Amino acid sequence: MKPETLAIHAARCPDPASGAIAPPISLSTTFERAADGSYPKGYSYGRTDNPTRSALEQAIAALEGGAGAACFASGTAASMAAFSLLAPGDHVIAPAECYHGTGKQLKELVARMGVRVSFVETGNLRAVEDAWTDATRMLWIETPSNPRLLITDIAAAATLAHSRGGLLVCDSTFATPVLQQPLALGADIAMHSTTKFLAGHSDAMGGALAVRESGQVLDRLRDYQVQAGAVPSPFDCWLTRRSMMTLPYRVRAQAASALTVARFLVSQPRVETVFYPGLPGHPAHELAARQMSAFGSMISVTVRGDAQDALAVAARTRLFTRATSLGSVESLIEHRASIEGSGTSTPANLLRLSIGLEHPDDLVEDLARALG
Ligand code: PLP
Repeated sequence: MKPETLAIHAARCPDPASGAIAPPISLSTTFERAADGSYPKGYSYGRTDNPTRSALEQAIAALEGGAGAACFASGTAASMAAFSLLAPGDHVIAPAECYHGTGKQLKELVARMGVRVSFVETGNLRAVEDAWTDATRMLWIETPSNPRLLITDIAAAATLAHSRGGLLVCDSTFATPVLQQPLALGADIAMHSTTKFLAGHSDAMGGALAVRESGQVLDRLRDYQVQAGAVPSPFDCWLTRRSMMTLPYRVRAQAASALTVARFLVSQPRVETVFYPGLPGHPAHELAARQMSAFGSMISVTVRGDAQDALAVAARTRLFTRATSLGSVESLIEHRASIEGSGTSTPANLLRLSIGLEHPDDLVEDLARALG
């Protein structure tokens, strides 16, 4: 089935109790036992499982082509769940550039678990190979990466990780399951901050791990979900599942607009560099074209000058809202270095744009004025 059809029909049918087309939100935290003590409908307690959450998990697993998925209260809770697969003494290789919160989580929380972390440019698999040790159990990649849209070859990373007995986890938040299928390319786990494109309207937090095969990894993640307890609320699950029905159309339209905006930005004298994998000048354009069906709707630019010059450009836009986050219907512009804080490697003159669903002509006109 195509993603457009799956996005609507996976794990969704009229409510058997009422015939309601929009599924009810199951708010109950507890479920009735049968006289013999069993749970006849399969549900016992809201943290363990919940019908609204299972529907979301099944839909994400279907879109990612996985055996199953586990949803969490945020993308950050999902990445922590993936790192819980590691044990003291293990080693993980992660990208030198990734979502700054993932890097911080690895350096602080995961390191405290007794896990050693090496940050490597995962776009260069020779460097990954050099960093691999006998204790390496996981290769974490993020492609395209936040914020410079670096690309890692998922299939080649999977081959490398598997040849050394490790797991490959891919943060595919920027791509979504519509534009990139990490599990089909060999990744063991596809991770999402569902707060972004899957929820798509800046109104629901969440995270997901879709797992390629059923077995120990999926079982351990489900067990962690219950034991660590960072589960999403039924309402957030319901909003996310509802928004996913339009995901393929939103994401493709946003990606098409982003290409138009990126091409415009390249022509602007006040713009130093445009980071967008859809541009032929991007160092991994051909690889991105091979492993993605379109290039997504995230663009970063460096503005000629310093942080103040970049902030001034952001301040002159009218349609772009100055805010963090991404993947929603409205366009956002963000000065990344100031949110990432001291020690960031993000250039001070970098602005990250999340292209929404406004008409691209209006977005280009807005940016032309801001850069003028
Ligand atoms: N991964 C990526 C690529 C992100 O951009 C983010 C958030 O910006 C996260 C993970 C973390 O997700 P959340 O904010 O839902 O915890």
